[in-house]
Amino acid sequence: MRQEGVVEWAQTLLTIGFIRYLRRGDYIEKSDISLGDRNVEVYKFCQGNGPPAQKTLWDTIIWDKSSLESITVEEQELVLEHELSHRDRNPVYKGIFIGALLMLAPGLFILLYSPLHLLNGAPLTELVDSVVAGFSIVAGFVLIWRIEEMWADYDAICALGEDKFMTAYRRFKTGSDASMAHKILEKVVYTKPENTRRLYRRLHQSD
Ligand SMILES: [Zn+2]
Repeated sequence: MRQEGVVEWAQTLLTIGFIRYLRRGDYIEKSDISLGDRNVEVYKFCQGNGPPAQKTLWDTIIWDKSSLESITVEEQELVLEHELSHRDRNPVYKGIFIGALLMLAPGLFILLYSPLHLLNGAPLTELVDSVVAGFSIVAGFVLIWRIEEMWADYDAICALGEDKFMTAYRRFKTGSDASMAHKILEKVVYTKPENTRRLYRRLHQSD
């Protein structure tokens, strides 16, 4: 019991730190939100400039009160189910994801700095080797991230049902005023809702 208290205290501290120091927005409070038959504790903030909700590395969910209040209840449910799926993912896959995330920095480093070897007179074959190594690490991470996002959308479609999922997703997409960088990221790591629905139908055919 006492250990749980310490963990909760650390989670709170790290989550508030995450909101404040990464400038995700102004922290408001930790409180419950009720959507559908869910009652979930989240860390609310406002004036955010990124995604409206996010699961942190400490298994907490941060929730942009101001941007989420401007969307429909169905869209909020979609966001919540997606984030809950991230949070409740099995520890093995989470370990793989964090491992790949830690590999990303050396991967990018190899990729960006390998051309410098050429200037130092290294043979071209060496450059090819390091570009292939760097690219493989980065591509591997992107693939794992993509699977993670599709998994979260898949859990959301299971929770909401096809129609609600598609309606909420389409409305959410058209309503977002994402920056160019965010739009590119969306294309790279998110699966189109139609493809999530296809997967859902295939896996539920026998039902
Ligand atoms: Zn996600």
